Amino acid sequence: MDKNYEEFHASLLYCTRCGQAMPVHERLLLVLPTGNLYDYRCKGCGQSLGSKTEKSQTELKSP
Ligand SMILES: [Zn+2]
Repeated sequence: MDKNYEEFHASLLYCTRCGQAMPVHERLLLVLPTGNLYDYRCKGCGQSLGSKTEKSQTELKSP
């Protein structure tokens, strides 16, 4: 069975304050017609490390 797990979450991002790659909180910022805007914050210091727009393709559920 070939299953590709391409979705990435709970990834590590480099935090300049902590000086190392840190686990991040994923926080939903905006819900857009084209997708959702997520903000990533360091779990260590809370600094925003980046954002991502996730296209709304979560409707692809297996029956
Ligand atoms: Zn940090």
